[in-house]
Amino acid sequence: MNRALTEKELLDCFDESLKNGSIYILYQPKINHSTGRMIGAEALMRWSSPEFGMQYPSDFIPVLEKNDLIYRADLAVFDNVCSFLRECLDSGIKPVPISVNMSRYDIYRKNYVEEIEKLRLKYNIPVKYLHVEVTETSAIGGMELVSGVLKQLHEYGYIVEMDDFGSGYSSLNVLKDLAVDVIKLDMRFLSGNIGGRGGTIISAIVQMAKWLGTPVIAEGVETMEQADYMKSIGCKYVQGYLYSKPVPKEEFCSKLQMVDHEPLTPALDLIREMDAGRFWDPRSMETLIFNNFVGGAVIFSYQNGKAEILRVNKKYVREIGMNMMEQEIINSDPFSGMDENNHKIFTETLERAISSNDEESCETWRTVCSKICGEDKICIRSYIRMIGKTETQYLFYAMVHNITAEKRRYDELFESERRFRFSSEQANVYAWEVDIATKDMRPCFRCMRDLNVPPVVHNYPEPMIENGLFPPDYADMYREWMRKLESGEVDSLDGIIPLTIGRIPFHVRFTLERDENGEPLKAYGSATLVVDGEENK
Ligand code: C2E
Ligand code: CA
Ligand code: CA
Repeated sequence: MNRALTEKELLDCFDESLKNGSIYILYQPKINHSTGRMIGAEALMRWSSPEFGMQYPSDFIPVLEKNDLIYRADLAVFDNVCSFLRECLDSGIKPVPISVNMSRYDIYRKNYVEEIEKLRLKYNIPVKYLHVEVTETSAIGGMELVSGVLKQLHEYGYIVEMDDFGSGYSSLNVLKDLAVDVIKLDMRFLSGNIGGRGGTIISAIVQMAKWLGTPVIAEGVETMEQADYMKSIGCKYVQGYLYSKPVPKEEFCSKLQMVDHEPLTPALDLIREMDAGRFWDPRSMETLIFNNFVGGAVIFSYQNGKAEILRVNKKYVREIGMNMMEQEIINSDPFSGMDENNHKIFTETLERAISSNDEESCETWRTVCSKICGEDKICIRSYIRMIGKTETQYLFYAMVHNITAEKRRYDELFESERRFRFSSEQANVYAWEVDIATKDMRPCFRCMRDLNVPPVVHNYPEPMIENGLFPPDYADMYREWMRKLESGEVDSLDGIIPLTIGRIPFHVRFTLERDENGEPLKAYGSATLVVDGEENK
């Protein structure tokens, strides 16, 4: 009969099981999804009871932890892995780094790291073949304790992987405070649909990890769609049933010989004066400066002629953004919207910044496009500095100024025939979007320019009523519109409202966007000048 052993049964046969091989290991490969090569594997513990069949870690590990026995099991796993690696090395099979799980209870044991180090030396295994996985929850026992253990592991040269990243609420704080070398992001923690909110969270985490220069391994990857999606957002390492279930030693050994290997690529090497870790810390001086005291700023990587935005500050969004969200900008290609000539000017400036190692500047035009107000052309002056490089990749910091208005004035004065036209000007439409959950309103470029609307209006529509853009006697009606949109009672609304100081009649329309569950997500608003005849419609 197959069944889970009771706590007492487990404890009674624990010693015996350790000795007789009932507790053993399976190996699960970690793969580079871009190349199909193996970059490592994880050792996973199994316990098979001669009488009652396979026991699962989710059942027996908590019991071992509770009874202060987990360290013995984990050391047995480590011993086993070392012995396996020794076999490989002795028989001329090139191994990959194997990661071993460290329970958060192992962290409480004073000599745990010394114990594993002793085992490594006993089998004489180069430390590069051993990684240690710690979970985010290890930090529950206190940051200092974990930091100390990580420091010790690093001193001996072990690569430390943060397991189950994304499972806990404190993830991001833990990440910036703990010096881990690799992040394992479990797909299963991030609700099924990768197109929606889950996907946004994942891609934000991957971006942040990039910013820290930390490689990410996606774990629990079961479908090609998931793997492709992860690759598309910059995470090419995967572990999961898609490539292989955890397999016994013999089967893993033959995989090792069949599949090519490659190392995890090194993290971006940031130039000393700029400390990436501190830069990411929301309280650090660097972040304060990045967000408040410089103008629009962006950090992007550049590799083989391709650029990718890693981080932008609020003012960058304002300078370039029209109406794009920070995330939209990050996801967009910084070269998009540049024609061939402007593209060339920009890359030449990057090349100059690489060779001079100093600040270089250029002016480039680009077409920007947002969902709600269409296309517009802007001119950006960029001051660019290289802040990091690896063999193939460069990291740049750029300060940007939107000099479109300046340029236009210049053009009007001196080159009237090349005068620049805003396409939205002809359309005569103002547009904005309201986030239902946050009540944040984002206006289009024209609203910002002509009506002086700030890039984000919180608690919409109250500030617009207060500042008089919106007539007081329409306020209650308009609040009622908002309520109907928020509650999802309607999918669209429209009416004539006299707007701005001149109280000019505008035809105001709203369309509601819903999420996959049909809940209201965003309301898109537009206002067009009422032309003759329309009032009677
Ligand atoms: P974990 O460290 O997050 O290990 C990954 C788990 O995900 C493994 O479960 C693995 O079999 C499973 N998995 C891998 N790919 C997929 C997939 O595509 N889909 C799904 N649904 N699952 C996948 P497993 O082996 O049952 O281990 C569960 C947990 O038990 C581990 O989670 C780890 O926290 C713990 N554990 C396993 N071995 C050890 C060990 O030697 N020591 C310690 N302390 N904990 C261990
Ligand atoms: Ca693990
Ligand atoms: Ca995991």
